[in-house]
Amino acid sequence: MSSKKTNEWESKDQSEHNRVEPMTLYLVATPIGNLEDITYRAVKVLSEVDFIAAEDTRNTPKLLQKYGIKKPLVSYFEHNKRERGEYIVSRLESGESCALVTDAGTPAISDPGEDLVALCIERGIKVTSLPGACAAITALTLSGLSTKRFCFEGFLTYAKGSKKARLQELAKETRTVIIYEAPHHLCATLDDLYEAFGDRRVAFCRELTKINEEAKIMTLSEAIAYYNENKPRGEFVLVIEGADDKPQAEFDMSIKEHVQKYIDEGKSKMDAIKAAAKDRGLPKSTVYAEINK
Ligand code: SAM
Repeated sequence: MSSKKTNEWESKDQSEHNRVEPMTLYLVATPIGNLEDITYRAVKVLSEVDFIAAEDTRNTPKLLQKYGIKKPLVSYFEHNKRERGEYIVSRLESGESCALVTDAGTPAISDPGEDLVALCIERGIKVTSLPGACAAITALTLSGLSTKRFCFEGFLTYAKGSKKARLQELAKETRTVIIYEAPHHLCATLDDLYEAFGDRRVAFCRELTKINEEAKIMTLSEAIAYYNENKPRGEFVLVIEGADDKPQAEFDMSIKEHVQKYIDEGKSKMDAIKAAAKDRGLPKSTVYAEINK
């Protein structure tokens, strides 16, 4: 991949913009399992920066080796982020360029990257982000749940009291909720989720982009039974259906009864279908088909 050539799709300005600049931190998204999930631009930047700051200096070399990249690595992780952040910034201030990569996915999403970004901003260092794989977004798109409005919770706290309090808050959330969970905590989290959320639907997105990728949608009670029988293995993202923000009483009736309620209140049949469809968040055609069965 030549960095100098301007290809026919790329304007001259774009190719200049893509040149690696000194005194710049590049946040480079890396694969979350499948090593081919990396962009051309990411490979180019990793090949051209002065050094790479990596969360896991044992894991990142596998990726670099696949793409024939040889670069000095500096470790940057939760337990050395203070001292190492200062060191990285001092090298950036002296004119070098640095790519930050995490163990997997997009730096600064549920990893210490956010601290380095904040430090660079504070010290006037330019930061730019190369988009790519992120487990949360990959899971959301596969979940089959609403993607219209969603929120990302990341890892739940493990302190019992605060975990329960946080889940009580989250249970009211009407947007789709995305959480990260480690396999050895999954069963305990499912019990806590069931207690706070009731029998909500959840998509269990596991080993995304890997050979054993799976996205199973189950209610929480089904999931508790399933994972008590089948020990959770691999990496998980849980995508949880948002709380229903419509009055529950209206759904304790069938679609036919719902339409009839509006007719009884004096609406025409078509207006009753429209109103019931709106309440239920369904297309009118679905309600129409249901009452004409
Ligand atoms: N920065 C990463 C990102 O952009 O998604 C997330 C890093 S966080 C430390 C790691 C968590 O992401 C895992 O515990 C898991 O919940 C989720 N994760 C990462 N890779 C995954 C995969 N291939 N399949 C499912 N979940 C994954």
